[in-house]
Amino acid sequence: MEEIEERALELVRRSKDGILLSRLWGELGINSRRCTRIVRTLLDAGLVERESLVMDRVRTYRIRFVGESKSEINVSKYELLVAGDVFDPCVGCTDECKPTRCAQLNKWIRGLGAES
Ligand code: SF4
Repeated sequence: MEEIEERALELVRRSKDGILLSRLWGELGINSRRCTRIVRTLLDAGLVERESLVMDRVRTYRIRFVGESKSEINVSKYELLVAGDVFDPCVGCTDECKPTRCAQLNKWIRGLGAES
């Protein structure tokens, strides 16, 4: 993602009720055409949604954030490495690796089944 797209996404993300397209391009210091292209990129990535509306007889859009926050993404990735209270034993392991005979790994995998 380009830096300008990241800035646009951050502005949208900070606006709880969404941000008008005209305000977005104003705050980014770019023209409306470029801003529309950036919003299209964010729409295609599923990070924002847009609502069409008319203000002072002019059609515009309100852009809202719909993507996951970075902290939510990190939590879900972290959770993939934990079974119960036990962290994946392979992370940081320096033992000679024979996964089919590894007691630590087998114990951890049994813990995955116990969670559900
Ligand atoms: S399978 Fe066992 S030996 Fe191999 S990396 Fe994982 S914990 Fe270490």
